[in-house]
Amino acid sequence: MKVYIQTDIEGVSGFCFFENRQNEGIENYYHRQRMRRLLTGEVNAAVLAAFESGAEEVIINDSHGSSYNILFEELDPRCQILHGRAGSAPFWLQDIERGYDIMLLIGMHAMAGTECALLPHSKWVLNGNIFLSEASMAAVLAGYYGVKTVFISGDQYVTAEVAEKIPGIVRGVVKEALGPYYSRSSMPAAAQKIIHDGVIAGIAAADSIEPYVLTPPFILDVYDSDRSGRNMGLIRLIKEPVKGDDLVDVFQRAVNSMPWNNFGLKHVDGFKYP
Ligand SMILES: [Zn+2]
Repeated sequence: MKVYIQTDIEGVSGFCFFENRQNEGIENYYHRQRMRRLLTGEVNAAVLAAFESGAEEVIINDSHGSSYNILFEELDPRCQILHGRAGSAPFWLQDIERGYDIMLLIGMHAMAGTECALLPHSKWVLNGNIFLSEASMAAVLAGYYGVKTVFISGDQYVTAEVAEKIPGIVRGVVKEALGPYYSRSSMPAAAQKIIHDGVIAGIAAADSIEPYVLTPPFILDVYDSDRSGRNMGLIRLIKEPVKGDDLVDVFQRAVNSMPWNNFGLKHVDGFKYP
């Protein structure tokens, strides 16, 4: 069994406001290090449970923001990690095509516009009527390669959204969202136990969980939360919807049309050709 762990940070217990990447103050530095340590602890809990469930290979995708958040020197030495500079992976789910069986979603957040959820952002709309968070978008891209998503951690909203799409998936609710920037959080050791035990249960139930697959043709539109608005309204991130029959191609064209992405071609640190 080969296991792929997709990670984000907003759904980690204890994380309840967006990180400030501009603030170089000492307080912000220590805060960000604490959040990275919490993320690392939750990821490690999933890694341990995967190996205890018989995994021969575990790969982690450090997928939040910069793609260089997880304190990998503290991880189980048997796993490997995908990470790098400034989110420059050629593909969002890099290496997912290398024959994985199981995907685990750790630290996930609700889609943009989810009322009362913690830090909701990103909303992928397929064919006008299928609404996907980053978590369910990862699940459907994994499903394209035949990979089953059997566990998700985060708040009560994102885990419910994904459970509605993937019957049988195990939900690890590590915190209760009480508003966009406020939560009732589990302590790190308790959150890690929820994840560890949930991953064991999810992998044990894998035979009765189907890969999340959607059928073409696809029309993909992408939105984000309008954080300037009072009511968490939506803003559109791409000029026009992307159409096609191949999900990965449609996804790739959509993300590469956003000005801050150019997967596989991106120059880091603001470098631009004159
Ligand atoms: Zn994130």
